[in-house]
Formats: sequence, structure tokens, C-alpha cells
Amino acid sequence: MQEVIIGKEGTQKFPINNSRVSRQHAKITVSDSGQWTLEDLNSTNGTYIIDDNDELVQIKKVSITEFTRVVLADQTSMGFTFFAQHVVEDDPQNYKAEFQYVLRIHDKALKEKAEIDAKIQKKNMMRFLPGIISAVIGLLLTLLLPFNQKVYGVAVTALFTALLQVIINIYLGKDSKLKDFSNKYSNKLTCPCCSKPLSEIEFKNQMCSRCKAHA
Ligand SMILES: [Zn+2]
Repeated sequence: MQEVIIGKEGTQKFPINNSRVSRQHAKITVSDSGQWTLEDLNSTNGTYIIDDNDELVQIKKVSITEFTRVVLADQTSMGFTFFAQHVVEDDPQNYKAEFQYVLRIHDKALKEKAEIDAKIQKKNMMRFLPGIISAVIGLLLTLLLPFNQKVYGVAVTALFTALLQVIINIYLGKDSKLKDFSNKYSNKLTCPCCSKPLSEIEFKNQMCSRCKAHA
């Protein structure tokens, strides 16, 4: 079993000097069978994890995985954010495994984004629908109605078009998938070392431009 106390005076191999982190803030235990546990050591400002929904959750004692993001105090520079895995890393300057993990999340995010975009594009095609249907109805009414009633055909077509447009706009307006998407990933696509949100260029270079951590 392996046990690491994390804090300003912890037993982790890397220094933590961030002001809101307690001297002995939290403890990570890795059992012989590879079970990871995170426990808060009654820290002043609390211990959090970023859960599967990308939300910050305060914990007392939980099971985690090696790639759980742990937040001591908060996500600012006064707190400290790291991957659990980093406490067993022999070389604290080495962020390779964590960076590769973030790259995998990024790949997954891109795929999901492409699927959402395709769906939205499909839905947007429906905006043409009222125009097309109305044109057909208008044409039929104009052809079929006797001469002195053709004016009603125009009115019915106009009314129908307006109605259809309202219905379709209500239907299309419901789409919030893109917003859900950015909520789901905003906390996860960040540098494993300095927590800076990574840009597409940084993902392409597989390196953080601020702290130079890389895959
Ligand atoms: Zn960085």
C-alpha cells in the first residue's frame, strides 16, 4: 500500500506553496490491488474533485481513479489542482501520462462536437420547409380555385406559412446541446500542470504554451 499526504508540509515529491492549501490538506492511498482513495484531512478550505459531469464536488473520503482531478481549496492560483496520478510519478516534472489522458478526452470531445454539429445542420435544413410547403400549397390553390376565389388561396397560404414558421422555430429553439457540451468539457480540457484551458493549437502541439508541460 502506498500513502501520500498532500499539502504544504505533505509527503508528495513536488512542492506546494499555494496560500489556501493547508499544511496537511489531503491524503491519497493506493492499495496493493490498485484501489485509489482520496481523503480530506480536515483542511481549512476543503478538498474537491472534478466529477464525470465536470462539476466541482467537495469530498471527505472517496474512491477515485488515477486520472481523477483533485482540487485543494479552489481552482485559482491560491489553491492547487492536480491529477491523482501525479503523486506516484517518480519525476514531478513529468506530465506525459496526464497530458496524454487530456489528449484522449480532447479527441472524445471533438467527436461528440462533430456529432452535435451534424445534428444541428440537419435541423437547420428544416428552416426551408415552411417556404417549400407553402409554395406547393399556394400553387395548388391557385390552380384549383375558381377565378373569383383565388384571393382566399393567397390568404390561406400566407396564414399557413406563418403558422408553420412559428411551429418550426419553437422546435428548433429547444436545442441546447451545444451549451451542455461546453459545460461538460470546460474543466477537463485544461493543462494537467498549470490548469490553463488548452487551445486547439496547444492540443495540436501536445504542449502547454504557459508552463511547457507536454505529452
Ligand atoms: Zn500548463
